[in-house]
Amino acid sequence: MVEKLYVTYNDVHRLCQESAPHILEQIQPQLMIAIGGGGFIPARHRPLPLREPPSLGPDNVVEVPGTKVTRTQWLDLSALGQMENLVGKNILIVDEVDDTRTTLDYAVKELEKDVEAARQRMGPDAPQTKFSIFVLHNKDKPKKGTLPTDMQAEGRYVAARTVKDVWICYPWEAIDIEDHDRLAAEALAAKNSP
Ligand code: 5GP
Repeated sequence: MVEKLYVTYNDVHRLCQESAPHILEQIQPQLMIAIGGGGFIPARHRPLPLREPPSLGPDNVVEVPGTKVTRTQWLDLSALGQMENLVGKNILIVDEVDDTRTTLDYAVKELEKDVEAARQRMGPDAPQTKFSIFVLHNKDKPKKGTLPTDMQAEGRYVAARTVKDVWICYPWEAIDIEDHDRLAAEALAAKNSP
């Protein structure tokens, strides 16, 4: 059976809080893009406030609906509004988990392509956009997708935790949250018992 890791809302809170100093000091995001479902809650977390007023959206988070139906429907980039708004910004892409990396690979490549096209339209002096990534969990396993090498080298890929190839149960997916929290507490107690 696949090993399960139960993550509580408090765990998510702590992981965001822990990662916030690096994100705020080193990455200094001006805009966050949350990838469908799992990225919404960490992206809305208070320890990840943005310092500059948003140019998009009422609360600095652009929610990109993601579906797994077909590859072309994964990202609805029209939700971001004018691509010109993204040119020259520090943009943080937020998702809950980096598993095979397929989603993040696709998100970064599509965004880079569209933002670069907008930048070209704006003229030769238009500034470059910098993409960064924040995930709660990265699974330590062979990845199908790739990310730009400079992103990792420059500390623009942040995973609050790197875990084995387990199945992570997030609280927002729980049918019975009390049961979910009990399983998380039991796993923690078992881990801490001598
Ligand atoms: P990818 O394989 O593209 O990195 O991940 C695709 C998506 O699969 C993730 O955004 C997430 O929604 C889902 N996923 C992958 N692994 C897990 C996991 O361990 N737990 C949960 N709840 N979702 C996962």
